[in-house]
Amino acid sequence: MSRYLGDDFILPGLTPNNTPFFTAGSIQIQFCDDCGHAQHPPDDLCYACQGRNLSFRTCPGTGRVESCARVHHPLHPALRERVPYVIAIVSVDGAPGVNVQGNVVHCDTSSVRIGQKVRAVYEEAVDPHSGTKLLIPQWEPAD
Ligand SMILES: [Zn+2]
Repeated sequence: MSRYLGDDFILPGLTPNNTPFFTAGSIQIQFCDDCGHAQHPPDDLCYACQGRNLSFRTCPGTGRVESCARVHHPLHPALRERVPYVIAIVSVDGAPGVNVQGNVVHCDTSSVRIGQKVRAVYEEAVDPHSGTKLLIPQWEPAD
């Protein structure tokens, strides 16, 4: 068992826009080349200026817990033996205004706090449709 929520849990569906985030093994955030706006999830259009010149930048892989919840009730049968787990909203260093969702792993779930510094770790999986190797960002305490 290598994934925090279990190897049977749902994998992200890859699209051209989200493939860098889920496969790079680094935190890839989309920036607008015209106005500098950072956005997540990535899209075909800049949310700030509606420009279409977008590219991905590698962020440092650190962030801050902005919100978190300790989940006790398994909402999916595959999570029955995974509770309690922590899901968090993490603001990404190097990408102003960008928050991503993930689990906080490698710690006591009762220790996760808003304001906590975290760093990215990556869970390996294989997309069953394309055979693409996934490196799914998760977060662990950094302090
Ligand atoms: Zn823009």
